[in-house]
Amino acid sequence: MAVRVGVLGATGAVGQRLIQLLDPHPDFDLACVTASDESAGKSYREAAKWRIEMAIPDDVAEMTVRRTDADDIPDDVDLLFSSLPSSVGEAVEPGLCEAGYVVSSNSSNDRTADDVPLVIPEVNGDHVDLLEVQQDERGWDGALLKNPNCSTITMVPTLAALDREFGLDAVRVSTLQAVSGAGYSGVSSMEIIDNAIPHIGGEEEKMETEARKLLGSFDGAEVQWHDADVAASCNRIPTLDGHLENVWADLSGDVSTGEAADAMREFPSPDLPSSPDPLIHVFEEPDRPQPRLDRMHGDGMAVTAGGFRETSGGVQYNCLAHNTLRGAAGASVLNGELLAEKGWV
Ligand code: NAP
Repeated sequence: MAVRVGVLGATGAVGQRLIQLLDPHPDFDLACVTASDESAGKSYREAAKWRIEMAIPDDVAEMTVRRTDADDIPDDVDLLFSSLPSSVGEAVEPGLCEAGYVVSSNSSNDRTADDVPLVIPEVNGDHVDLLEVQQDERGWDGALLKNPNCSTITMVPTLAALDREFGLDAVRVSTLQAVSGAGYSGVSSMEIIDNAIPHIGGEEEKMETEARKLLGSFDGAEVQWHDADVAASCNRIPTLDGHLENVWADLSGDVSTGEAADAMREFPSPDLPSSPDPLIHVFEEPDRPQPRLDRMHGDGMAVTAGGFRETSGGVQYNCLAHNTLRGAAGASVLNGELLAEKGWV
């Protein structure tokens, strides 16, 4: 039987991608959408300024937007996908979990909390079991699971592939991030056209901490963070979707570029409806991946990589992922699929 699901923050950049992915989903039945009090009570068509490349699904267009409050969400909804601003997520997500909902969230609040699993199913699906510790400690009937920041998701699968084969010592990464990563009201056209902005508030810290938690190991009680030294520099550029990243990975042993590329090509993909196979597509062409050409690989859920070069400490390469699909909405849906597979909903 299909799991009844809802979307919190359904009118935003990530919320619209969640609608796009959930409407045709084989295992999830979209039963409610929420947004701010200004949107509540309106039809979804009226409340959402729809900006993606398909029509609003008819049944969703006619749904009434609800308040983002446990009292306004139907009891028979099991799983909530959250794409709320982090300040709002911080205020409402714990109450929803206390009320019994399982929340698969994009918002950055609580991603590094000790008892909140931060998960990319292909990389650390076993960390979901930390939810048992969370429910014990917080006394919740529901549960809170996070996916990482979009720039972190882009590089971590490639780093996991290298770490498993060769051991990862250190990472340096410089990003070229699309404007949709800032949400619909994030960056004005006057700021970004003909420009690049070498600052995205808080993004570097997110990449440096979240990557180490994701690459860490779960011992049944807590997550031991990976001890690799990770340093990031984040830049906004005028692409619409797709974050491109230049990565320098220092590895424990001597590794050729061919061996590094093979480790990524062969990195396994679990059998979940939204997980692409292969997870990482490796290009031979030195000038790929590129955002406009490559962000829709694997229906926007694949990570692409290329441009491998040997360095004194390991390898340098470039990687790319679609920030609102693999980096946000698709990541939450995939986590929802993992929750369903493991019996949490
Ligand atoms: P966005 O376009 O600004 O959308 C925000 C959504 O939250 C809208 O639906 C908005 O509803 C709703 N909202 C705002 N204030 C609210 C309140 N007080 N109560 C209830 N709902 C409220 O933002 P976004 O880019 O989709 O990002 C959403 C979250 O995902 C953020 O935490 C962001 O950091 C994270 N994220 C984004 C990306 C990305 O690539 N964009 C990637 C990874 C993670 P109204 O329309 O009614 O205002």
